[in-house]
Amino acid sequence: MEKIVSLCKRRGFVFQSSEIYGGAASVWDYGPLGVELRKNVADAWWSAMVHGRDDIEGLDAGILMHPRVWEASGHVSGFTDPLLECKTCKKRWRADHIEQASCARKPSVAPGAHGDCDLGEPRLFNLMFKTFMGPVEEDASVVYLRPETAQGSYVNFLNVQQTSRQRVPFGIAQLGKAFRNEITPGNFIFRTREFEQAEMQFFVKPGSDDEWFDYWLDQRIAWHHEIGIRPEKLRQHAHGPNELAHYAKTAVDIEYEFPFGWQELEGVHNRTDFDLSRHQEFSGKRLIYIDPAGGERYLPYVVETAMGVGRSALVALVDGYREEEVGGQQRVVLGLSPRLAPIKAAVFPLMKKLGLPEIATGLLGDLRRARIPADYDQAGSIGRRYRRQDEAGTPWCITIDGQTRDDDSVTIRDRDTLEQVRVGLDHVVSWIRERL
Ligand code: ATP
Repeated sequence: MEKIVSLCKRRGFVFQSSEIYGGAASVWDYGPLGVELRKNVADAWWSAMVHGRDDIEGLDAGILMHPRVWEASGHVSGFTDPLLECKTCKKRWRADHIEQASCARKPSVAPGAHGDCDLGEPRLFNLMFKTFMGPVEEDASVVYLRPETAQGSYVNFLNVQQTSRQRVPFGIAQLGKAFRNEITPGNFIFRTREFEQAEMQFFVKPGSDDEWFDYWLDQRIAWHHEIGIRPEKLRQHAHGPNELAHYAKTAVDIEYEFPFGWQELEGVHNRTDFDLSRHQEFSGKRLIYIDPAGGERYLPYVVETAMGVGRSALVALVDGYREEEVGGQQRVVLGLSPRLAPIKAAVFPLMKKLGLPEIATGLLGDLRRARIPADYDQAGSIGRRYRRQDEAGTPWCITIDGQTRDDDSVTIRDRDTLEQVRVGLDHVVSWIRERL
């Protein structure tokens, strides 16, 4: 992990938040390359879930919602983690993660193992961030930063269904920030207090929910493969009766094998009609669906797919990172799928003379006009320029050389196979487009 963290900082993927003030714990800022990577993950998700389908609509609900929403959803009373605090060293842990934790004091041992450790009993800690709506800071104006986007989809279920004229089964997809005051955030951007979610709620007729659950689990695993994640690094973990959330009938985590072990990347949950029935009860508004075909009335069940966009970006970084030797030299490569790569192509003039830089900047302009994110580099040896792009994950490097002046052709070098092909200057944009 240290290598990934250091690459992310060195190349401008991710920076510690407020670094010049000593950092804000477990909040991370996405730099020029990171913001592109995260956006590409989000776009790939939106494209598969919304643009590529007839039966899913997009929504962007507010982060702040009516406080009763979180009473109805069960978050005010139940969105808690068990907190253990050592009265001696003041360190805090999630009681259900205690087996992987260590004491803050040296020598570092399991919490409770030093003679004077005083752990006490776990107490429940609510993970929602509270703030105040309006100018008065009093109990009546308490609101929460949403801990998930899902509730925005439930309260808008009928708005979306009626305006888009969808019929059940159909889904609502949202991309947006969520906030959780995690007790033990960590492992870089794996668990943070502010994060972006990609969640989809699929409304189905009760009785068809198990079938849809299986369908969505398969779809989501296929999507991770599609964005280039190695299948052998993914597995499924079905929740046992003690792990299931209060709203869930069934839940399966799609897990990835991180350097720190197998951990959840995405959750697929059968949330039954729990959320809609609670909102109906708490708001006093009917959320019943009336089937236009037969007039049948029912509260739909919901199959949810819930993924963290930053976590998916971390998986892409971890999965793509490799060190290898090429021609007797070490190189670090980020083997991101071209779709996710922040920079798609880099243009190099072989020399800073003979008019080569002018041809190269002309090509760069063509790539920019085609809205293909591209980079230009004329500093240092060609080998060093390749290395810089390899570790940024750039799939193609284009070199303008002496032959370009004679026949208007350039070489395009593939990041992974290192193969070089000659392509006409006029065809570079279409060559890259085809491969994206
Ligand atoms: P955990 O049990 O690990 O706290 P969870 O099961 O509560 O997580 P969900 O509520 O199912 O997580 O959230 C859906 C997805 O959102 C997760 O699979 C993960 O990718 C992402 N996610 C959840 N919490 C965080 C976080 N603190 N930081 C980054 N991503 C997160």
